[in-house]
Amino acid sequence: KSAGSGQFARYDPQMHSGLVERLQLAADLRRALETGGELEMHYQPTIELRTGQIVGFEALVRWRHPVRGMISPADFIPLAESTGLIRPLGQWVLAESCRQAVAWGMGAPERAMTMAVNVSGRQFDQPGLPGIVAAVLAETGLPAQRLCLEMTESVLMTDTEENLAVLLSLKDIGVRLAIDDFGTGYSSLAYLRRFPVDTLKIDRSFVERLSGATPDAALARTIVQLGQSLGMATVAEGIEQYAQFLALRRMGCDLAQGYYFSRPLPAAEAGLLLQDHKPA
Ligand code: C2E
Ligand code: CA
Ligand code: CA
Ligand code: CA
Repeated sequence: KSAGSGQFARYDPQMHSGLVERLQLAADLRRALETGGELEMHYQPTIELRTGQIVGFEALVRWRHPVRGMISPADFIPLAESTGLIRPLGQWVLAESCRQAVAWGMGAPERAMTMAVNVSGRQFDQPGLPGIVAAVLAETGLPAQRLCLEMTESVLMTDTEENLAVLLSLKDIGVRLAIDDFGTGYSSLAYLRRFPVDTLKIDRSFVERLSGATPDAALARTIVQLGQSLGMATVAEGIEQYAQFLALRRMGCDLAQGYYFSRPLPAAEAGLLLQDHKPA
């Protein structure tokens, strides 16, 4: 052939290795789910702004890859979603978090805290999600009202009628429901009123705007007021500074999470936070 290698300009080794890498990583994740050893949950406390008390935790998954080290969920959750592995992964996350909540005594009335678990769009679509949730609660013995499921606004606002039915069956079980990353999607206020949601989680981007060179509190304040008028609790996420904490408390925001209080911690360390927690 007379043509040089230039003819194969469409062949992009970078692209190729990207695909192979993704396939490899998906295979690794499948194996990690089978063996169980590489995945673990970290827990970030939720604080009541008025009292400073810990009122619950958010469960956040971690993958300790034997070769690559820690892989962020922001990287492997999308991979799990596109390969369907999110369903077994999500089920593992749910069971592990409920088990941990029970181990921390959260089933007892004197430790009435909430364990919040993230549910991705592909899990929410899966037929039988309410059945899976009910089965995990029954197996672990966690009372339903101690579990909160977090779903993003964008997931809820697609297929709204179908989603409403799923939300209502989850509500029947008795779990709490939260809208995650609120303010970043396009909520229809009409649907928001119909959804049986207990909590709005104010996205970190609005908390960031509370401090810095040109602070802007208008959006955070509006979301807090929206939550109040809909009878929903508000949680601010990503509080890193004292000024943000003060501003949100002044606005009447109920709960908060963020590095200012604590990073997500392995179970053994998160459990230590409970030792000096006064029972309700
Ligand atoms: P998210 O649900 O919005 O979780 C909050 C993220 O913000 C977490 O990142 C948390 O570590 C981080 N964060 C908490 N406080 C602060 C702060 O003060 N400053 C900053 N800069 N960040 C803070 P993480 O753990 O890396 O999780 C990223 C996302 O991955 C989560 O966002 C969630 O969408 C997803 N994810 C994590 N764990 C799970 C899981 O078990 N299941 C599902 N379906 N998704 C998960
Ligand atoms: Ca979340
Ligand atoms: Ca969030
Ligand atoms: Ca997020």
